[in-house]
Amino acid sequence: MQSMNKKKRRILIIDDNRQIHLDYRKILEGQSCTTETNEDFLEFFGNEGEGESSGGGTFSSEPLNGLVTIDSALQGEDGFKLVQHSIEDRNPYHLAFVDLRMPPGWDGLKTVAKIWQVDPELQIVICSAYSDNSYADICNKLGRSDSLLILKKPFDAIEVYQLAVALTEKWILGRKARLKQEDLELLVAKRTEELKLASLQDPLTKLTNRTGFSTQLDLALSRVSRHGKMAAVFLIDIDYFKQINDNFGHPTGDQLLIEVAKRLKKCVRGTDTVARLGGDEFAIIQSDVESEGQFRGLLRRVEQLQKSPLEYEQRKIEFSFSIGVATCPLDSSDASDLLRKSDQALYRSKRDGRAMSRFYSPEMDSELLRTQRIFQGLKTALAEDQLLLHYQPIVDAQSGAIRTFEALIRWYHPERKMIPPNEFIPIAEETGIIAPIGDWVLETACLEAQTWPVGIGVSVNMSPVQFREQNDVVSRVEEILKRTGLAPERLAIEITESAMISQPKYTSDCLRRLREMGVSIVLDDFGVGYSSLSYVQSFPFDRLKLDRSFVSSKSASDKTRAIMKLVGSLGVNLDIVTTAEGVETFEELKLVQEQGFRQIQGYLIGRPEPPAELLKYFDSQIIDLVPPSDQPNVALPFPVIEIPNVHDSQSNVD
Ligand code: C2E
Ligand code: MG
Ligand code: MG
Repeated sequence: MQSMNKKKRRILIIDDNRQIHLDYRKILEGQSCTTETNEDFLEFFGNEGEGESSGGGTFSSEPLNGLVTIDSALQGEDGFKLVQHSIEDRNPYHLAFVDLRMPPGWDGLKTVAKIWQVDPELQIVICSAYSDNSYADICNKLGRSDSLLILKKPFDAIEVYQLAVALTEKWILGRKARLKQEDLELLVAKRTEELKLASLQDPLTKLTNRTGFSTQLDLALSRVSRHGKMAAVFLIDIDYFKQINDNFGHPTGDQLLIEVAKRLKKCVRGTDTVARLGGDEFAIIQSDVESEGQFRGLLRRVEQLQKSPLEYEQRKIEFSFSIGVATCPLDSSDASDLLRKSDQALYRSKRDGRAMSRFYSPEMDSELLRTQRIFQGLKTALAEDQLLLHYQPIVDAQSGAIRTFEALIRWYHPERKMIPPNEFIPIAEETGIIAPIGDWVLETACLEAQTWPVGIGVSVNMSPVQFREQNDVVSRVEEILKRTGLAPERLAIEITESAMISQPKYTSDCLRRLREMGVSIVLDDFGVGYSSLSYVQSFPFDRLKLDRSFVSSKSASDKTRAIMKLVGSLGVNLDIVTTAEGVETFEELKLVQEQGFRQIQGYLIGRPEPPAELLKYFDSQIIDLVPPSDQPNVALPFPVIEIPNVHDSQSNVD
């Protein structure tokens, strides 16, 4: 026989015949009972029925021996009450033997129906001496057939015993299965909750993710309309995060994100939400705001966070934020509009040089409009040949011999006439249209340079975006050189430090391959922006151009002079050709010559001019650098094409 569960099985007997109770007990507990009616037997056994047999009964060696407790009730209603109590006491019965006829009270069917209402798990044996109710009738009336058996009177002791063993065991197994199922259901509910949470959470920083952010923003805005308070969306980007990742490795980048998340969490209130929207983009929803000062207060706290660098693996990593803020209800009460406006403010911070914070203002909308117009205009410009190149000479600082012409793009707009590059190159870079423009510049400059004396080269500016977005920059240059027939040695590519910063490895690989082809590489605008000597050291530039802001005598300070001197001597010591940009006066010329600059470029030597104007240089290929003795500080009288003042004509595009 299978081993039985050793827990006590609780059996309830409901029968109006007292003698039958004694019979049941005798059978199930092994008690020696007479078959005579014993008026006091209920008191005698007690309703708790702790009749633990010590064995020796009819079935003493059988499975129920010592494992059963029996309760008795003479009427259906009493039996029902016992079941009710058993449920309340969390000590339910396993099985009930119920007589079908129990006058004057409830009959067996009503009793069972009532019992199942409070304890649907109870196994029932209906004992019937009559044949007026068939099994099918009974099942029909009770509405279920599981957990129900019928025992016809007079019954055999062994029948009762077997039913008790089998049905109490069935109850125990059923309960086990139910508990297991409940456990499983609990587990499923717990995991579902965890998954739900995970779907709203950024796994790295444990902050709310973009989905959770949207929900929280809706809630915050609905509170604004209900309670008449204010709210704000702060968008926070880590400046140059990609470079931090590239330079220090992804684990450091991850650490920075985790640290920023922690710091942001610390500077908000419990009612605010900090989220990571993706990459290096964080957001705060500031809610329940009562005064505008609270917006500025939080902004100051966030700005403070960038003051102390991340310390990781014995390194200190400096970082800064660009921040954009839009407030509700002032800027908008609509979630997506508010987000768009904070994004515009963020964009403005980045455009203004990063490490900045900007609150949204309506003029940012017109800026966006302007960007879109210029982008559309550039598409037309490319298609309708409105772009052209001017060329500016770069000469030897001592002899005045022309070495190169720098190709500088112009946009001849049908209404605005000549638009200088500073007005549209940044937008072309932002919108990605710089890629086809860059191709056009390179091809046009190479074709033009083919017509010049062979000793003169051409210098072409390339945007960092071209390195970032065109994954075949080198083969494009190669193909254009081939197509135009220009010797690679006559081409120089000018890049700014930002190209090196955004993808140091990829960019220097590209530049190295270009150099191997014979193309010269020039580091342009040196000294402004990120300004790191490490790039000069790590990549063998052919030329270094000091930004014109350092050359201008108008802005001369001890500091700029010191930088000039440093770059001049750097060129001499590292054997890099240094070019001083923006030389406008003989005084500046003298200064850069003294500092050891090898080449010069500037209005003093020549302005950017259309290709047809270059002919005048080609005979001698030398520009006289000696100042007229009586006018030491005036520019040389070369013919110049004036660029109209952009601000006069701006309204045409804006
Ligand atoms: P850049 O490459 O540093 O070019 C030198 C800029 O300085 C030119 O301005 C030039 O006209 C100006 N410049 C030269 N000498 C003097 C001077 O003595 N005084 C003053 N005040 N300015 C002088 P430009 O042509 O307006 O170009 C501005 C910038 O636009 C360029 O700076 C370059 O970064 C960008 N750019 C121009 N053409 C292209 C192009 O084809 N592709 C790309 N990606 N960028 C270009
Ligand atoms: Mg340049
Ligand atoms: Mg420059």
